[in-house]
Amino acid sequence: MSTPTIRHVRAFTVRGGGADYHDQTGYHWIDDHIATPMAKYPGYRQSRRSFGLNVLGTLVVEVEASDDTVGFAVTTGGEPGAWIVEHHLARFVEGQKLSDIETIWDQMYLSTLYYGRKGIVINALSGVDLALWDLLGRVRREPVYRLLGGAVREELQFYATGARPDLAQSLGFLGGKLPLHHHPAEGEEGFRSNVEEVAEMRRRVRPDFWLMLDCWMSLDLEYAVRLAHALHPHGLKWLEEALLPDDYWGYRDLRRAVPAGMWVTTGEHEATAAGFRLLLDMGCCDVLQPDVGWCGGLTELIRIAALADAHGALVVPHGSSVYSYHFVVTRHNSPYAEFLMMAPQADVVVPMFQPLLLDEPVPSHGRLKVRELDRPGFGVRLNPNCLLHRPYTRPGPAR
Ligand SMILES: [Mg+2]
Repeated sequence: MSTPTIRHVRAFTVRGGGADYHDQTGYHWIDDHIATPMAKYPGYRQSRRSFGLNVLGTLVVEVEASDDTVGFAVTTGGEPGAWIVEHHLARFVEGQKLSDIETIWDQMYLSTLYYGRKGIVINALSGVDLALWDLLGRVRREPVYRLLGGAVREELQFYATGARPDLAQSLGFLGGKLPLHHHPAEGEEGFRSNVEEVAEMRRRVRPDFWLMLDCWMSLDLEYAVRLAHALHPHGLKWLEEALLPDDYWGYRDLRRAVPAGMWVTTGEHEATAAGFRLLLDMGCCDVLQPDVGWCGGLTELIRIAALADAHGALVVPHGSSVYSYHFVVTRHNSPYAEFLMMAPQADVVVPMFQPLLLDEPVPSHGRLKVRELDRPGFGVRLNPNCLLHRPYTRPGPAR
């Protein structure tokens, strides 16, 4: 069987319709006074949208093969991401053999080093990479997890991220991760509220139900250590992303200072194997949490996970739905996955990329059978009712 070549790459943004998962209106737990680095400025404390968390929007990358098969992927990047895909990355993809994903990745990464390495360039690169894996799976009529060597377990098990771990427990999840609400600038009262929220949740759930806390880069070392010790009696399993992502030294010291048995986790805003190598070499954390749409795509996540394996660290990717699931199920050192509760009250299970994706599988009783991933590629479709916009059209086959 000859492998098709890649005929065309197209990059889209999504217009309206609530298709951007940060583009929420009305109350949503995900934007309710969550502690962030910007919360030291009182005017930016109440909402992450206030400082622009939603400005980029969604990036959809489509790749079309010479046999007319089309693959796609979704990440964060919006118009700037689309520009990078169309005007820079596409040249390393179009005309190449679909099976040459490693070479394509290498050329996209090396050619953008002078302005890339992290952030939106790597998001865009990740989108192209994921679209290529999706296309390869569709051409070969195999789910991506089988292209990666196959599943190592029959089902995925999930913890839930959201404001209501008590409801997550009744929905069958193995743990619940709360967002931290108060920044150190909110003083002792904020500290007490932060501790009380976890304590109250512990009273509502079983003693063995996992409780975790996501700090979204908002703390300093002294506060994080104090918080970890205050939460230890309430059985906190892990403290996530406590410090700024560039503070490798802080993470190293934090991991040494937390109570025995409590995990330090981070990596959601880290990128490429080079960044994760630093986290591992410096002993910064127990669990790496790369986002496959932001860290360099599936090709790079494979390298990151191999590094983690050699260091005895777990990889529990950040959100990302099917793009993570197909990976997690192939790895011994990724024993469970994150499920982001996208319902405004975190009270029901809804697909993370709703309404943009169709056929997106969701956990039932906190679990998902691998056979539910048994469709070619990542197994999802773009919802034709979501309006895609291609801001930087180049010559080539139209959509
Ligand atoms: Mg997080």
